[in-house]
Amino acid sequence: MSRKVALVTGAGQGIGEGVARQLATDGFAVALSGRHLDKVQRVTDDIEKDGGEAYAIEADVQYRDQVFDSVQKTVDHFGHLDVFVNNAGIAHVAQICNTKEDDLDKLLDINVKGTFFGIQAAAAQFRKQKTPGKIINASSIAGHEGFELLGAYSATKFAIRGLTQAAAKELARYQITVNAYCPGIVLTPMWDQIDEEMGQVNHVAKGESLKQYLSGIALGRGEEPQDVANLVSFLASEKANYITGQAIMVDGGIKYV
Ligand code: NAD
Repeated sequence: MSRKVALVTGAGQGIGEGVARQLATDGFAVALSGRHLDKVQRVTDDIEKDGGEAYAIEADVQYRDQVFDSVQKTVDHFGHLDVFVNNAGIAHVAQICNTKEDDLDKLLDINVKGTFFGIQAAAAQFRKQKTPGKIINASSIAGHEGFELLGAYSATKFAIRGLTQAAAKELARYQITVNAYCPGIVLTPMWDQIDEEMGQVNHVAKGESLKQYLSGIALGRGEEPQDVANLVSFLASEKANYITGQAIMVDGGIKYV
């Protein structure tokens, strides 16, 4: 088990892409999973062109079988698993009173159940291998404070913190650590969508909602996927061996917890 192996979900764009590229730079063999194979394949090819080891897997995290299958495919391809990054997630903009049940179900299925299945699948593999392991989940500033028009989304990101703490307690005896990253306003396609949908609800022009959120960042700029990837790189490394159950802010100074 010389080189370490990581699996990153939702790795075809945004934060997941940044995390996968960084872990490859750190020397991990990286499995990239996503709903659309062409998107994860593009990032995989790029990583390999740069001399890294990467493998693309099509998997939708809301289906337990597909999450377990993606771990199996990773192990079949690279031999074992050391780090699982539960990154895939979706946002939805609506007032709580106007949120449709279907949209709520979709958020819960992908953000909460998807992460739950990821923890189950990764832990099962680490225990089978009888090795330590690291599980790293995507929470958010919205996992520390409920945001207007993001009520259902915030609920899912609070849930991730609870899951992270409970899983950390249950899995510590196997030397499996479980932590979460809490980004702020990351300039990814997710925020393009949030900005557009908030604009529609509040009748403001495209770009205005994002501008308002960006103005509240102490460090004075929007967050890049690389800012998040730097934290995940640390959490995935041996330097983080004694950290578990934590949800760590990486937001440029928005929430102080
Ligand atoms: P994004 O929308 O740009 O990318 C998300 C990726 O997840 C996409 O590739 C998408 O295809 C994939 N995905 C969505 N549903 C999936 C499913 N069912 N199965 C597999 N893959 C699926 O979003 P992002 O900004 O990169 O966000 C990544 C994570 O970070 C999410 O969990 C998000 O909630 C969280 N986060 C983002 C921000 C932000 O400001 N962008 C802030 C805090 C937390």
